[in-house]
Amino acid sequence: MSKKIIITIDGWSSCGKSTLAKQLAKKLGYVYVDSGAMYRAITLYFLRNHIDWTDKKEVNAALKEIHLDFRSNEQTGDSEMYLNDENVEYVIRDLIIAEKVSDIAAIKEVRTFAVAQQQKMGTKKGVVMDGRDIGTVVFPKAELKIFMTADNAVRVERRFKEMYEKNPNVSIEEVKSNLEMRDYIDSNREVSPLRKADDALVLDNTNLTEAEQLSKALAWVKERVKTK
Ligand code: C5P
Repeated sequence: MSKKIIITIDGWSSCGKSTLAKQLAKKLGYVYVDSGAMYRAITLYFLRNHIDWTDKKEVNAALKEIHLDFRSNEQTGDSEMYLNDENVEYVIRDLIIAEKVSDIAAIKEVRTFAVAQQQKMGTKKGVVMDGRDIGTVVFPKAELKIFMTADNAVRVERRFKEMYEKNPNVSIEEVKSNLEMRDYIDSNREVSPLRKADDALVLDNTNLTEAEQLSKALAWVKERVKTK
């Protein structure tokens, strides 16, 4: 496949977007961008520096101090989130961040800041980006847009397993209420709410294995590369 395209993957929290995005990027030799990691890193900065995010002036001043970049881990080859030169890839997965990130991602100034950087990363194409507004706002002209979904119970179970490995004190109720809260805020916010782009293809992976969902997505890529 020679012609490079932009692939966007949006959907609810814990639908397996990043798993699919990473596998697609690896298979196609594309760059993977986890846009959620950027909102999480901004949240970490705001919490650490006690930023009052209801105050626009404080938000704008704080954003000026934030430098975000993705760097490849030499051992694993995975791309990791750096906040002002510090590797924050692991800290930003904490529940403390998950509890606040959707409030912060709903702020217009924060989105403008993150979206501008995301759009820059797509100028050369050959990018798989996952998030909530990638197919609708960041790359409305992307060649392939995927909207992922899965049954709630399956999503809670998946996220619980993932979080339990890092922190056995986490409860399934905490994980469930965090997912419900984020989905609610993400889909009801005023700026760039989570919604399926009209031209996005729906991938419900409730009953699919990772291999099955990857082959489905690869078939879509093949089709789009041919027709574009
Ligand atoms: O993808 P992830 O679950 O790590 O994203 C964390 C949060 O960041 C989401 O719940 C959402 O509030 C926000 N987000 C967003 N727009 C994106 C990606 C993530 O608002 N493109």
